[in-house]
Amino acid sequence: MSSFRPSDRFGIQRVLLPSGVLPQQADQLDPALPIAEDELLIEVESLNIDSASFHQISTVCGGDLLKIEKHIVDLVKRRGKHHNPVTGSGGMLIGRVTAVGPAFPVREKPVQVGDRIATLVSLSLTPLEIRKVKRIHPKVDRVDIEGHAILFASGLFSLLPSDLPESLALAVLDVAGAPAQTRRLVQANQTVVVIGGGGKSGVLCLYEAKKSLGVTTIAIDYSDAGIDRLKTLPFVDQVIQADARNAVEVMKKVSDATQGQMADLVINVANLPETEMSSVLSCKRGGAVYFFSMATSFTRAALGAEGVGADVDLRIGNGYTSGHAQLALDLIRESKILRKLFTDVYCS
Ligand code: NAP
Repeated sequence: MSSFRPSDRFGIQRVLLPSGVLPQQADQLDPALPIAEDELLIEVESLNIDSASFHQISTVCGGDLLKIEKHIVDLVKRRGKHHNPVTGSGGMLIGRVTAVGPAFPVREKPVQVGDRIATLVSLSLTPLEIRKVKRIHPKVDRVDIEGHAILFASGLFSLLPSDLPESLALAVLDVAGAPAQTRRLVQANQTVVVIGGGGKSGVLCLYEAKKSLGVTTIAIDYSDAGIDRLKTLPFVDQVIQADARNAVEVMKKVSDATQGQMADLVINVANLPETEMSSVLSCKRGGAVYFFSMATSFTRAALGAEGVGADVDLRIGNGYTSGHAQLALDLIRESKILRKLFTDVYCS
């Protein structure tokens, strides 16, 4: 008799509640061994919790590390995955492959036992069991653990690059979809506003946007530290300090910065809720708003845009774009400034 579960490309057999749904929709997954014939088993080293999720957990725990640890352990025990029910988001992980099911599609996704990988599918659908929390790094939303995770045959991952430190690679891979989508969306001579521009995805989007001919980049951020950092970056043309939850204030400041023209493209990468309308109101008629932030409410964005008569294209941020991992890592390789910034801020 086989010691593996049967193949199941999307991991539906791992769903405990409610049965038959996809793992991302599920309330609870079964992370128990053995793996299926087409799964990968990963000994996890670190979880990179999605920024919106970590921010929410940290807030309800009052920033207390012991409470954050308990919250995370309880959440994973209850759900069999790190899927924050409030933000709906997860994050990603790094670890070492300890078993490759005989039917895992290794031709399409080459991998072998011993490889160190970063998963590129959300923790919100990744079966996970935590044995021990080793350390929490609150500044970079990272949690070092002992435990195992399972990747389905449909799952995406990246081998950890040998030329970059792993904390750097992890920080970049976490938000790889953002600069990749920016490359698709930005056109020459546009004005691009990035809300939450001082964060991880924000600076990558600003850098990528500025590579297109004649583009003007405007970053909006909140804290003094974020603003000071942004002012040193040569690929950021203007820096605005504002609270993205205050739509009217942001609209006025973007109007001043663009002589009333507003932005062709607004990218929202703020890690907190209630920022939809500052994005919508910063965008010119016929422009596009790209919501990468996991704290975005579809209802607030759609009904809010309708409510103010804003004829703008609203786009949901897909974390996956083909080639996104390579593209994001290459940005760090090609820009000394980006590499230094990521190393200083996100590699504790
Ligand atoms: P991050 O590094 O924490 O950056 C968030 C930025 O938002 C920070 O610069 C922060 O600035 C800024 N911000 C916070 N409050 C603000 C406010 N009131 N007004 C203006 N700016 C404010 O986060 P990240 O890792 O880049 O992630 C950004 C978003 O993308 C998160 O919501 C995350 O969940 C989401 N995400 C989406 C995907 C996807 O697949 N679509 C994947 C990964 C992440 P201060 O430091 O100044 O407060």
